[in-house]
Amino acid sequence: MLVGGIEAGGTKFVCAVTDGKNGIQERISMPTETPEQTMPRLFEYFDQFDHLDAIGLASFGPIDVNPKSKTYGAIMDTPKAGWEHYDILGAMKAHYPDTQFAFTTDVNAAAYGELKMGAADGLDSCVYLTVGTGIGGGVVEHGQILQGYSHPEIGHMLIRQQPEDSYEGTCPYHRNCLEGLAAGPAIERRWGKKGHLLPADHQAWQMEADYLAQACVNIALMLSPERIVFGGGVSKQAQLFPMIRESFKRQMAGYVQTPDLDDYIVHVALGDDAGITGALLLAADQL
Ligand code: ADP
Ligand code: ZN
Repeated sequence: MLVGGIEAGGTKFVCAVTDGKNGIQERISMPTETPEQTMPRLFEYFDQFDHLDAIGLASFGPIDVNPKSKTYGAIMDTPKAGWEHYDILGAMKAHYPDTQFAFTTDVNAAAYGELKMGAADGLDSCVYLTVGTGIGGGVVEHGQILQGYSHPEIGHMLIRQQPEDSYEGTCPYHRNCLEGLAAGPAIERRWGKKGHLLPADHQAWQMEADYLAQACVNIALMLSPERIVFGGGVSKQAQLFPMIRESFKRQMAGYVQTPDLDDYIVHVALGDDAGITGALLLAADQL
């Protein structure tokens, strides 16, 4: 067995292969340009291998993941030049007609990777949230990626803005949704400095923790996952975790039992490899 994985991100594409026994054997990373530039490089990489039984394609979204839809396999509205309505799965299938494909979002793949081999290893369910340039989330329930008419868009959940926070919010669609208030660019614009330049005891982090905790409360109430895993650049601020747990406890107000919060709200274990690991695992599941 030889399977491939692709993590198609807004800034870079990571491609890898594995035989399923020896972990990631081969990988490359290339900048995300236009499909005309990026796809031939991707084919060139996978063409080196005789035959790939399956490829897991995990893409930045929004993407059409509904097999009943006419545009299944395409990237939907995106500001990324050239990728809007690009049928990325169709292009892959046309080039590799004898290969099976798994197709999902980058964050769903990361959630799957963390569930099988990372911070939620051994569990049946988890939610993965990445807090970086945007906020994205993936959900695994009963060991399966959760999907309805489309994939969840947890990063855009509506939350209560703190009365003392006058920042208008960065989301072009909703302004003060979770992403609009708590992603890296929101921190930078609200406080006038990039997150990594703010001291660990800056008030920015308490506000950030409260917003992320609200998201965790909503997630716990709605999906009851066994663990919530945070990735992305902003979650590298380790001081956030105790504050998120504290705020979660306060806002949940004892209403439902959750696992011990130190085990419930945690940092990624696979780091930047969560997405590509999940893509490879999803490919192997096709066989
Ligand atoms: P991307 O989301 O583009 O894949 P990142 O997850 O690194 O990449 O997110 C980038 C955003 O996160 C930027 O807004 C940046 O300011 C912020 N960020 C990155 N690293 C840190 C850090 N250590 N502390 C706080 N904010 C960070
Ligand atoms: Zn939004």
